[in-house]
Amino acid sequence: MNFLLLISVIGLLFFGCSRGPEPIDYGKDACAACKMTIMDNKYAAEIVTKKGKVYKFDAIECLFNFKAKNLKEEDIFSEWVCDFSDPGKLINLRKAYFLHTEAFQSPMGLDVLAVATKDKVKEIQTKYGGHIMNYNEVRDFAIQRKMMNEMEMKH
Ligand SMILES: [Zn+2]
Repeated sequence: MNFLLLISVIGLLFFGCSRGPEPIDYGKDACAACKMTIMDNKYAAEIVTKKGKVYKFDAIECLFNFKAKNLKEEDIFSEWVCDFSDPGKLINLRKAYFLHTEAFQSPMGLDVLAVATKDKVKEIQTKYGGHIMNYNEVRDFAIQRKMMNEMEMKH
């Protein structure tokens, strides 16, 4: 076998295992964006880069704002968010369904929750009201909200 091929196969095996989401240590890990301790396993989020670096966040607005400022899209290997309906479980952020509802308060105040399925998001919406959002809408909402907060603080 070609030596280089062998090296890349071994590399793939190693990376393949270690590149999923890294478990979040609640009450101990700090948010990469706001530096607060990550406490709530219904809202935490995580980015894994192609180089294998892991960034953890207490809420998705911190993830989106950190990403807009510090990372390029092509650096990102995977993005994760806690499933609101299955606390502590990290699901693919890109495939998640989002609900903006003030019925539940998220740690950083965006009040957007994420779940894994369309049925689940509709079920929560039927019960508590709110507005279903997609990935891009949540990202823009998170970034706008931060800009507005910063403007308010300057006055
Ligand atoms: Zn944060």
